[in-house]
Amino acid sequence: MTAKLIKDLRAGHSRYKDLHVSDYQPLFKELAEDGQHPKALCIACSDSRVDPALLFDQHPGDLFLVRNVANVVPPYEPNPGHHGTSAAVEYAVRGLQVSDIIVMGHAQCGGAKALADMADGAPPIGEFVGKWMSMAEPAVKMAEESHDTDTDKGVRIEHAVVRLSLQNLKTFPWIAERVEWGSLELHGFYFDMRNGSVMWLNPETDLFEDFS
Ligand SMILES: [Zn+2]
Repeated sequence: MTAKLIKDLRAGHSRYKDLHVSDYQPLFKELAEDGQHPKALCIACSDSRVDPALLFDQHPGDLFLVRNVANVVPPYEPNPGHHGTSAAVEYAVRGLQVSDIIVMGHAQCGGAKALADMADGAPPIGEFVGKWMSMAEPAVKMAEESHDTDTDKGVRIEHAVVRLSLQNLKTFPWIAERVEWGSLELHGFYFDMRNGSVMWLNPETDLFEDFS
């Protein structure tokens, strides 16, 4: 951490204590005593421009958040390995018993771009990013076959990654059964920071539509 960053974070924390701690501390105290009961599990990209709590004006304790490269949910693979996203999904669904899961994609997603480039023949990026995004390869075919012809190829791939993650969530048996019982609902969203718009995946049309 650079000295400049430390100074910036210290100043920011000081502002938090001056301006916001009186608003939030009662809530944090309640959350500490009663535990967390989030409204939803939200899986979003690690991209610094995407902040689901800000976009939906939610507070601490409201969203159980998982962020990874390109909001990819792996398929159910209970094999040896370190399954960080699957572990968080398991805890939210089986431990916290969330009633809803949100997958949020976004415009200008570097992970989705890497996926598109690999599909065009580019070598995998880095030691981990390419391998991680190769898990989302089915999204490329889904984008090609999409009936949404109004959006460009890059956006269709970003949309398809959201659809793929929603599909992969249903490969977890304890998610599929809850969805079937009606105790768990899955939702797709997409944020375009270029115009500030949030779109939701309408299950009836299978298209991303304005959420406002
Ligand atoms: Zn992204």
